[in-house]
Amino acid sequence: RRFAEFGLEPQLLRAIDDLGFEHCSPIQAQSLPLSLAGYDVLGKAQTGTGKTAAFLIRVIDDLLKTPPPEERYAGEARALIVAPTRELVIQIAEDAKLLSKYTDLKIHTLVGGMDYQKQRDHLHNEFVDILVATPGRMLDFRERQDVHLDTVELLVIDEADRMLDMGFIPQMRQIVRYTPRKTHRQTLMFSATFTDEVVRLSEQWMHEAKNVEI
Ligand code: AMP
Repeated sequence: RRFAEFGLEPQLLRAIDDLGFEHCSPIQAQSLPLSLAGYDVLGKAQTGTGKTAAFLIRVIDDLLKTPPPEERYAGEARALIVAPTRELVIQIAEDAKLLSKYTDLKIHTLVGGMDYQKQRDHLHNEFVDILVATPGRMLDFRERQDVHLDTVELLVIDEADRMLDMGFIPQMRQIVRYTPRKTHRQTLMFSATFTDEVVRLSEQWMHEAKNVEI
């Protein structure tokens, strides 16, 4: 399938074009029709399959199509993407910047091992459209009230199986609790494997999710 078939916002389509993506990868072809229709999606896909663009395209298109709330406050995020490692967070944010280069969407990253104050100051200088974070740092920011998640319209949990392996589920549970309830947000979850535990979490955190496998 071609990206032009999905009715994506023109600024997004142009950025996809600039990246040289013409046809959808299999995970994109399977997940985009569902995510763009508003369904929660549990996607089984490994790194290298184009899963990052699969969720970013949905997130960016939705943020462009839905007008931002009239009253916005610093630190309120519209989309939250959580990934288990700092490298992954940085990669996701870079891809998000490329895909949103013709828009004025603001992307922020929160990762451990970097200056808290700096990340906080940056965050407080502008509105946040897309927040990309590791679980621990995300929770620190929320617990210190430096970020608010009750405005989150879209939640993405990337590499859920690695989150489990790395012991991040308690933090992840807490983060999910800070977002609107599952019928009031769209949740996308990706994992390289569908273990019983991943499926169980997806049932807790997603509403009538569609599963896609490649
Ligand atoms: P990921 O699985 O998200 O790590 O992506 C792997 C690589 O595939 C990245 O370098 C992407 O830029 C690239 N990519 C993603 N989607 C497509 C596509 N539809 N066509 C060509 N390359 C793509």
